[in-house]
Amino acid sequence: MAVDLHNYVASIPDYPEKGVVFRDLSPLMADGQAYKQATDQIVQFARDKGVEMIVGPEARGFIVGCPVAYDLGVGFAPARKKGKLPRETVKAEYALEYGTSELHMHKDAVKPGQKVLITDDLLATGGTIKATIDLVESLGGIVVGCAFLIELDALNGRDKLEGYDVLSLMHY
Ligand code: IMP
Repeated sequence: MAVDLHNYVASIPDYPEKGVVFRDLSPLMADGQAYKQATDQIVQFARDKGVEMIVGPEARGFIVGCPVAYDLGVGFAPARKKGKLPRETVKAEYALEYGTSELHMHKDAVKPGQKVLITDDLLATGGTIKATIDLVESLGGIVVGCAFLIELDALNGRDKLEGYDVLSLMHY
């Protein structure tokens, strides 16, 4: 029987700063049934899209994306913070609350024309995922979908994803 995934999200008030409720997905990832159920739902979303590659941003995008890649029998490519990838990269900058950050991918991580599903644990303002989309597209990849465990509706991240097929398993 299916479980309610909401029961595997810990909500931490005032973390990492006052007024913010942090949604901690480590209970979901620690539970075999819940983790498999969430993975299966994303696999189902991806299956008829002809996905050829999964891309996820550091670090929880790996935890969501790798089991999906394994199940579909396709590859996984990481989008990583500056200085983590050893070969030539492309980069995309995105805004943080204070300042900017950047994500990188290896130049050969996605082939032109390849159909890509992007995964992350949580969609907040959408900056992280938009930067990941920009990287994939700069390499010639086609983003056929974006999948998240959680979407924080009030932060309107979806506005940055207009025109993309988005799946969020839970909304807060
Ligand atoms: P965005 O770029 O504002 O959409 O933020 C999304 C990124 O921040 C994701 O990679 C998340 O892992 C992380 N993040 C932001 N808020 C939370 C939270 O409440 N719980 C877990 N991760 C979060």
